[in-house]
Amino acid sequence: MSMNLSYVNPTADSPWGTYLSQVERVTPYLGHLARWVETLKRPKRALIVDVPIELDDGTVAHYEGYRVQHNLSRGPGKGGVRYHPSVTLEEVMALAAWMSIKNAAVNLPYGGAKGGIRVEPKQLSRKELERLTRRYTSEIGLIIGPQQDIPAPDVNTNAQVMAWMMDTYSMNTGATATGVVTGKPIHLGGSLGRVKATGRGVFVTGREAARRINLPLDGARVAVQGFGNVGSSAAELFVQAGAKVVAIQDHTGTLYNGGGIEFADLMPLVQRQGSIAGFTGAEAMADEDFWDVDCEILVPAALEGQITPARAQRLKAKLVLEGANGPTLPSADDVLADRGVLVVPDVICNAGGVTVSYFEWVQDFSSFFWTEDEINVRLEKIMIGALRRIWDTADQHRISLRTATFAVACERILTAREERGLYP
Ligand code: GLU
Repeated sequence: MSMNLSYVNPTADSPWGTYLSQVERVTPYLGHLARWVETLKRPKRALIVDVPIELDDGTVAHYEGYRVQHNLSRGPGKGGVRYHPSVTLEEVMALAAWMSIKNAAVNLPYGGAKGGIRVEPKQLSRKELERLTRRYTSEIGLIIGPQQDIPAPDVNTNAQVMAWMMDTYSMNTGATATGVVTGKPIHLGGSLGRVKATGRGVFVTGREAARRINLPLDGARVAVQGFGNVGSSAAELFVQAGAKVVAIQDHTGTLYNGGGIEFADLMPLVQRQGSIAGFTGAEAMADEDFWDVDCEILVPAALEGQITPARAQRLKAKLVLEGANGPTLPSADDVLADRGVLVVPDVICNAGGVTVSYFEWVQDFSSFFWTEDEINVRLEKIMIGALRRIWDTADQHRISLRTATFAVACERILTAREERGLYP
């Protein structure tokens, strides 16, 4: 007997509602483990914290912060921290749950967790951002730790934010604990290859999927939504493989160039100002027209809920590579399947980031650091192996890659759950 959670009100299209319907879809394939599926429909633990800071003008501001540990059956929690004005408890719950699935899908020895603060970080000074990060870290210090739960970057957080988190946790506990967060600067126990790892994973899974559906990358047209760490790194690798990036959309607008956007010209601008605004090597286009662009590959690498049924009906791509978490609504998944568009789902497509986070954590506690080449080779091996296993499962049951990824992951999580047994 189970009741709905009293503290969130998901809808069919909200992040937690999306996640719940993904769990519904996999349940028929879980066999005897279905007995434990309720475990996945509620987070193990959700912490809400008040984060007060003094702003530079002397006033005091309060922000709402969260750390959710969805499932810890397979190991410590693992997942990023997001700073965004639309962050809610419900969203962080879904993002934490997707981390459980993702970590199990690539067989990392982690559970799933996620954190966030509802804040517009672009309106804060560097000093305010540091105070916000340090106070948030202290507040969630009750439940994080190198063997408990290991945060990492996500939307609007980066290596500098991780450095402040690592320092704050270390000061509070009395010993430098590099393994408490991943995605750190290289000098503080960070790993080579971490910054580009998520984009590299998107590219590697995309390349494998393209090969299986006989889609040549050479000359393929790619449209990318979101041009942060994930979108830009993936796009760069596709260009190196002979593809053309014809459209890019970020929070400032949409660019189009049918001949391919010149990377060497665009990247310095993006690195300087953090957006594609004002780039002259492409035409500006209306944001909604992005979904009609002629392309073979679409990479949503921004936020949740972007591919609605209406947009799914319009898009031209044959292959959708989910760099973002939760970009496709379940109702849109059905439209894409009907139209024969292949979706490589977030929970495998963007797992390259957390895979190299795992390498970083291993390097930190062994205090022995690997070369970038070793990291990239191991990353490719894990991603390709995981995708092969998922592809076989999809073929065997005639299900989507998303449901197949959930099947592989849920089997691992719920087997661990069953073997550990219910305490007490
Ligand atoms: N935030 C990233 C994700 O959504 C990385 C998480 C991590 O490295 O722990 O997968």
